[in-house]
Parts: sequence; C-alpha cells; structure tokens
Amino acid sequence: MSRESAPKETDPMDALRTLSDESHTGENRCWPCTVLNLGLVGIGVVFLRARNRPRASLLVAVVGVAVVYLRGYLVPYTPEFAPRLVAASPVPDEWFHGKPSHRESSRQDVTRQESESLADDVGMDGETVLRELSAAGVIEVEGAQLFLATAIDSAWHERMDELADRSLDSLSTALQASLPRVDYTEPYADDAEWVALGSDHKQLLPRPVVVAELAAYEVLGERLDDERLRVAGAEAFRMFLDRCPVCGAELVESSSVSCCGGHLGPRQDPDETLVCPTCEQRLYTFEVSDN
Ligand SMILES: [Zn+2]
Repeated sequence: MSRESAPKETDPMDALRTLSDESHTGENRCWPCTVLNLGLVGIGVVFLRARNRPRASLLVAVVGVAVVYLRGYLVPYTPEFAPRLVAASPVPDEWFHGKPSHRESSRQDVTRQESESLADDVGMDGETVLRELSAAGVIEVEGAQLFLATAIDSAWHERMDELADRSLDSLSTALQASLPRVDYTEPYADDAEWVALGSDHKQLLPRPVVVAELAAYEVLGERLDDERLRVAGAEAFRMFLDRCPVCGAELVESSSVSCCGGHLGPRQDPDETLVCPTCEQRLYTFEVSDN
C-alpha cells in the first residue's frame, strides 16, 4: 500500500484520499465487512469507557468509524473472513447482497459468461472422475486425503511453468490446437485476462485456469485414452493447486458469497473457492454437497 510513499507535507484532504480504498467502498462496499468492523469498533469503545478512559474511547470511535467509512473495513483481511461469518450466521444473505455488485452486473449484461472449466459440458460427475483417475494411478488416496502421484505432479508443474511464460495469444492458439472439442479460441482482456471459447465468445476461461488445465490435459494424455476423462481430469487437477500457475501468488480460500467472489441466490449454500488475490480470478470451486 502507499503508506510509505505518502507526501511529506500532508494536507489532511490528501491523507484522506490516500486512505480511501475504492475497491471496498461506494458501490463495491461489502456490508458484511462494514457491519462486522463497526461492531468491533463499538466493542473497543465500550471496553475503554468501562475502564474509564473517555478520551481514548472517543478517539477509537472517531478514527474507527472514519477508517471503515473510507476503506470499507478496519481489521486487515476482513474481506476474506467476514463473508464466511455471514454465511454461517442465521442472518439472511439478502440483507447484505440485495443487488449484485457493479462488476458482476456489468458481466451479466453481455451474453458471455465466465466459465469454470474446459470440462463444463463433459458431463462426468466428480466422483466418477476421481475413481477413474485413481484406478489409472494418477491420484493416490491416503486415508481421507487425495494426492497427485509424485511423477504426475512434477510433470504437471513443469508444464504449467512453461505455459505461464507464453503470451495470451500463444496460449489461446495452443488450447485450440490441443483439444479436439475446442473449435475456436481467441484471447480476451478486460480487467483480467481470459481465453474466449467459440466465435460468439460465450465462454471465458481465466488465464490461470487455461494454464492449469492445458498442462494437466497434456500430462494426462500420456496415461489415459479416454478423451472425456482427460478433459474432466484436467479440471479436477486444479483442486491440488496451492499457488497461482500464472503469477505464483499463494491462493486464498474464499467463499462465493463474498465481496471478492460471485453472488449466489439467497437460498443457495455458498461454495468454497480458491482465488488468486493478484490475478483476481477464481482457480477452483469446491461444490458444497446437499447431503
Ligand atoms: Zn495469479
């Protein structure tokens, strides 16, 4: 953040502008974060008053509320945990998410949609995929834990590193050339980088997903003959990612009900997701089962 680079003669207005963070205020304000942080400020104020420190409590109240107003939150990393608290609380989700955020609504206006995977329409359920992969020796099971076989895992990471250095153009071409079921691809960039599938650009695959799935698809080709399983398996590989294949940032677990992810209807359970905080793209969605 720009705290170190703040100008020396600080005009109070400049200081306020430096503090303010548009990604969590205005239309982007996350109400779970705001409410939680104001609550924490309130607890601090009550605590200080109870200890007979009225001036300190006034200072905490003024500064706390101002920071939440300007930045959207006070406690670091609130956007990562507040949505989970809300999801776990009995308070209806629509109290916080009456309207979809600006970014989401702008994506929904056009007919294209973000796609989770190359395997979106392969039609194999997750359990079958994992069973087949483990029968082929690609995945190993230890107790309740799943692992990629060591040789597979290192081959996959090596290939991802190579693909990560490619331009978006060349990645898009490689994807089209490798997968028989993909007949048209085109690079597409807005505030993030994607490969669009189909000449109508109806599906957008995030760049890190393309890198991870294309690398996995190629590695699986040496072990599997079944094309559908290769594609579905490539999707399953992403659950084993701990870093972003494009920028190397550590992935953070988030919830799809959060200000940083997508919004679901009020009656749906939020899915847990793996998100790259740098690319601001979703790398994997762990579906919450209904049983
Ligand atoms: Zn990244």
